[in-house]
Formats: sequence, structure tokens, C-alpha cells
Amino acid sequence: MKIIVIGGGPAGKSAAVEAAQIGEDVTLIEKKYLGGKCLNEGCMVVAGLNDVAKFIKDSHRYNELGITNQTPQVDFEKLADGMKDTIKKIRTVHNAEASEAGIEVINGTAKVSGESQTVTVNQEPFKYDKLIVATGSNPYIPPIKGREKAITYQDILNLKKVPEKLLIIGSGVIASEFASIFSMLGSEVKILCRDPFLDMIDDDTRDYVEHKLLDKVEIHKDVLVDEITDDGLYLDGKFFGGDIFLATGLKPNSQILEGIVDIGSEGEVVVNSKMETSQENIYAAGDVAGVSTTPLARMEGVVAARNACDIHTVADYRLTPSSLSLYYDVAFITYGEDVEATDNTGYLEGSIPGFAAPGSFWNVLQSNTGFTKVKVDPDSGLIKDVSSISPTARTSMAYLCQMIKDGYKTHDFDAFLETHPSSDPVYKLLRFFSKFG
Ligand SMILES: Cc1cc2nc3c(=O)[nH]c(=O)nc-3n(C[C@H](O)[C@H](O)[C@H](O)COP(=O)(O)OP(=O)(O)OC[C@H]3O[C@@H](n4cnc5c(N)ncnc54)[C@H](O)[C@@H]3O)c2cc1C
Repeated sequence: MKIIVIGGGPAGKSAAVEAAQIGEDVTLIEKKYLGGKCLNEGCMVVAGLNDVAKFIKDSHRYNELGITNQTPQVDFEKLADGMKDTIKKIRTVHNAEASEAGIEVINGTAKVSGESQTVTVNQEPFKYDKLIVATGSNPYIPPIKGREKAITYQDILNLKKVPEKLLIIGSGVIASEFASIFSMLGSEVKILCRDPFLDMIDDDTRDYVEHKLLDKVEIHKDVLVDEITDDGLYLDGKFFGGDIFLATGLKPNSQILEGIVDIGSEGEVVVNSKMETSQENIYAAGDVAGVSTTPLARMEGVVAARNACDIHTVADYRLTPSSLSLYYDVAFITYGEDVEATDNTGYLEGSIPGFAAPGSFWNVLQSNTGFTKVKVDPDSGLIKDVSSISPTARTSMAYLCQMIKDGYKTHDFDAFLETHPSSDPVYKLLRFFSKFG
């Protein structure tokens, strides 16, 4: 069977590798670089910048404490060059993986013709039996006057220096991550939110983020930007100077399937839990189908590939570990709609500050060691909500999420053996709640 995958990001590459490993004849078409947005513009860019930004923040702290007497200066061009070199090297791993899996990779922009099961690349037609579209997303640019003067995450590695003043329009994860990074690097940062700020996280966790992790960032809520100018913007009639960064969401790259499959109100390709579109033999996965994290994109890619290879598989969105990259990790579990709808009455909540441990020890004097909160059913031991802010929360949250999916309850943590010192306080709360019921 001939399978064509369009897009070499997390969704497309996972789909291609899965189908090739199953033994099918796979062609992967990518217009830029394997690794997609995650490696080349998104997750890895945030990871690389955040490492340096945290180092600068820590340096200030050690100076304040008199332990060191010099704060390093950041050369942003060198930082960006170093990141580009690193990303280039990681790309070779993606290329090698694709080649080892026996995937034919074609460089070019694909076009889909609905009728004849054909994809065209560089004017050449390719026939498919099954097509998986994983063309990802691009920044959503709102219709604000002067919007072409603003930058997005796609421009970050072309900056020449750390902006003196940065005005970030947006209220989600990308707005908060870049606000944190540039504030730690020394910019004066304002976040301008039209929608509720970080509304995907619990109120107490958000409070900690706003007051402890983004303490140097001014967050203006419920505001509307009127116009962007060469040197700033007008907000509710008042001028603010600075570079403008649009973090206003992502728009699925679904144009490639317009008129061929059903497209939803947010521009996403409509799929069922097998990643099938409304057109037989065409599947879609990842950001183009409306998700916006790499692990979900990868999962959907695998599900699409298996179904394309006639192996019945459904995507599982019941519980998903999610995270934000700030000075500490902010991690939480996102629940699928059916789980979210369960009756919450009778649940107990508990929260504790983080521990002194690697990554938090030098913030003990500032009472800034993190924050963890859980919600449990004391009778059944069911673990409902978990959010944690700590230097290592993103790693432990993924394992915890899997354990909850596998049916672990609070009493399973009664004899939990932790490593020490560790900055993860989740086990302590769960061990406390294991005594109930
Ligand atoms: C700043 C930022 C930070 C992020 N941080 C995180 C994070 O920390 N953790 C996390 O889980 N997620 C993060 N994300 C989200 C994550 O990057 C995406 O969810 C993920 O990359 C989606 O994968 P995808 O394969 O669906 O799409 P993409 O990664 O967008 O890949 C799509 C690919 O398709 C190619 N393509 C498009 N059209 C065509 C065509 N016509 N022909 C050929 N090729 C085409 C593109 O060139 C691209 O390579 C972040 C996103 C951003 C913007």
C-alpha cells in the first residue's frame, strides 16, 4: 500500500515512521525541515532560550546573596546562532531516523487533488492509497491595524538584541513563556490580554505564576489593542512604547484540504477518533486537526498511521500531561471532556509549597520554591486534579498522569519511596491523602 504523509513535524514524522515500521511504502513530503515547528521554531526554541534566561536570573540571585560578583551579559545574536547550530544538529537525527525507517523524504510544497488520489510536489504527481495530512499550524494574526509591524515566535531567532521593552499581545502559554524568558533576560515586559490570562490552569497555580514567576512582568487584563505603530502600540487609547510580539494563538494549515474535507469553525480539519477526515482514505493529525502540543500531535500521527494501515486504533484524550516553561516548570493534567464532566462533589483539595532541593534551594530565602496542589476523592482515593510548579514538575507529571490512567489511587502512595533531595512535592500530598477513607 502506498502511504503519503504531508508535513514532517511531530505528527507527520510519527505517522510516517509508524506506517513504515508496519511495513508500508511511505513517502513523506516536507516543505522546510523535518521536526516541524516543534524543533525549528517552537518547543526547542523556548527550551534553549529558557536555559540561558534561567542562568541569568540565577546569576542575579547569587550576586544579591554575595556568592558571586558578576552578572553575565547576553549576546543575543550569539545565543540565536548557537540555537540554530543546535537545532541543525538535532535535524540530522530526524533525517537519519526517517532514512533508517525506509521512508522516502521529498522536499517541496505538497498540493492535494481530491478526485484522483494524487498529491503534487514540485509539479510531479504522486499517487496514494492513503494520505495523512499533518501540515501543522502558523501564528494567528488578529486584524489589528499595523499588525505587520509586530513579530511572532517565528522571528525570535532573528532578533539582534534583547528588546529593551517588549509588549506581548496574548494570554496563553506562548505569551507567558516569552514574557518569562525576556523578563529574565532583562527586558521590561508587559503582557496585554484580551482573554483571561492562562485560563487553562487552576486559580491558585495561576496566582503563583503571576506573583512569583512573572513578578517583574506587568500583566494588563481585559484590554484591547487599538493600533500597532513603528515604536509601540495604542491600548485603549493610551500609547505604550516597545517592540510588539503577537502571541495570539495558532491557525491550522488546513488550506491544503479546503473543498476536499470538512473544515471546522477554527480552521481545523474535522476528524474522528481514528483521525479519519470526511473523505475516505484521507487522515489528518496534529495542529492541523486542532491540537496544539507535540505529544498529542505524535499520538494522533501514530493513530492515523495505524488506521491507514487497517489497524483499528483510537486517540485517547482522557488525561493529558501539560506544561509551561517558566523559571520553574508549571505542569498540570488536562482532562478530556467526558472525564471533566464527572461529579466533583465531596472532593478534597490540598496544597503545599515546594521543597528545598536542586533547582530551588537558593530561592528558599525568598519563599519561592514552587507550589503544588491536588484534588482527591477521600473515599475512593481517586486523584482528580494535580498541578505542580517545581524545577522538575514536567517530568514527574507525565508519569503521574499515566499512573492515574492505570487506576492508581491515593492509597497506592502510602508507601511511596521518593528520591531525596527532590523538588517534587506531589507524592507528599498524595501520601497525606492516602490516610483518608
Ligand atoms: C513558540 C511555541 C512553543 C511551543 N512549545 C511547546 C512545548 O513546549 N510543548 C509542546 O508539547 N508543544 C509546544 N508547542 C506546540 C508544538 O510545536 C506543536 O503542537 C507541534 O509542533 C505540532 O506538530 P505538527 O506535526 O502537527 O505540526 P508542525 O510542527 O507545525 O509541522 C507541520 C509541518 O508541515 C510542513 N508543511 C506545511 N504545509 C506543507 C505542505 N503543503 N507541503 C509540505 N510540507 C508542509 C511544515 O513545514 C511543518 O514542518 C509550541 C508551539 C509554539 C509556537
